[in-house]
Amino acid sequence: MTSDHSTTVSSVLELRQVSCSYETGRPAVQDISFAAKEGEILCLLGPSGCGKTTILRAIAGFEPVRSGQIFLSGQLVSSQEVMTPTENRRIGMVFQEYALFPHLRVQDNIAFGLSQLTRSLRAARVQEMLRLTGLEGFERRYPHELSGGQQQRVALARALVQNPVVLLLDEPFSNLDPDMAGRMRQELHDLLRRTKTTTVLVTHDHDEAFAMADRIAVLNQGRLEQFDTPEMMYHLPATPFVADFVGQADFIPGTVSQGMVQTELGEFPDTLECQDGTTVVVMIRPDDIHLVPTEGARSRVLSRQFRGSENLYTVSLPSGQIVHSSQGSTSVYQAGTTMEIRVLATHTVLFRQPNPTP
Ligand code: ADP
Ligand code: MG
Repeated sequence: MTSDHSTTVSSVLELRQVSCSYETGRPAVQDISFAAKEGEILCLLGPSGCGKTTILRAIAGFEPVRSGQIFLSGQLVSSQEVMTPTENRRIGMVFQEYALFPHLRVQDNIAFGLSQLTRSLRAARVQEMLRLTGLEGFERRYPHELSGGQQQRVALARALVQNPVVLLLDEPFSNLDPDMAGRMRQELHDLLRRTKTTTVLVTHDHDEAFAMADRIAVLNQGRLEQFDTPEMMYHLPATPFVADFVGQADFIPGTVSQGMVQTELGEFPDTLECQDGTTVVVMIRPDDIHLVPTEGARSRVLSRQFRGSENLYTVSLPSGQIVHSSQGSTSVYQAGTTMEIRVLATHTVLFRQPNPTP
């Protein structure tokens, strides 16, 4: 490869304005840019059909890009002119259905891509992977003799044994029951950290993305809405879509007047610096709304959802606007209880709204 195909950025993986389309109609993903540093765990998060798998397939070299570039370890591997074959990309992959070889024992599944090594080196690498993935003792079993979680570990071991530049995981927990998925998440996180594996994990579950990711790329209809840390994503979402997708959010309409936004829940600083009269919405999370039971107050509890460590209340404001409030698990109020509402937000998230037509 020539030097003009190199990138100056020291990222292990970089996408620059990547678009992909299938033969049918509009692009499946459009103008996607993000980069992964060495050892970083990235999550692609978004609803079904938003283009997550397409991006993974493009990184793996299964899907050509229509425009833009993909770099692996600084080398251009995908563009309109370039399409490095999958086998030359040093990518590890675990897909939803694991795709183990049913007729091979665990040890031979893991050793499958290691034919270039001597027998003893190969055995040593397989042993190391069995240990790392907690599969010691299962090496002579066949895939059908394993649980879903164990099969997934074999798929992981088979991918990691190759020392991939980047590991790609497509909804790796979706075939596991929730209990097992929770445990595997933790295990996988530890394993990726220990092996310092740069990873792109696809999920539609924001809890999973929060638990796993150093940074998250939120996708909506083939476009990247935000690429950020989980904390920034939650507290400073870039768009209403992100705000809503990564957690419970309420949007309170307001109007700007002299640097403040006037709303039914009081005043908030106008962080967008709008002209007077601009209509905006203030995003509020349930953890920012505190309820004080008060006789004669005009907001009232509609319902309570018990969530173990908290109670999530649905509350109606005098205007009919609905908000949610998370309270401690011991704060139990009946439906109909009238409430004063205190907003205790440390910062204000505003979005512009189109002005209502006169
Ligand atoms: P996700 O993984 O986020 O659910 P995909 O990347 O699979 O989304 O799909 C993105 C879009 O591309 C969807 O609109 C989907 O219908 C379309 N798509 C996916 N695979 C194909 C294909 N092989 N041929 C045509 N369209 C496809
Ligand atoms: Mg998918």
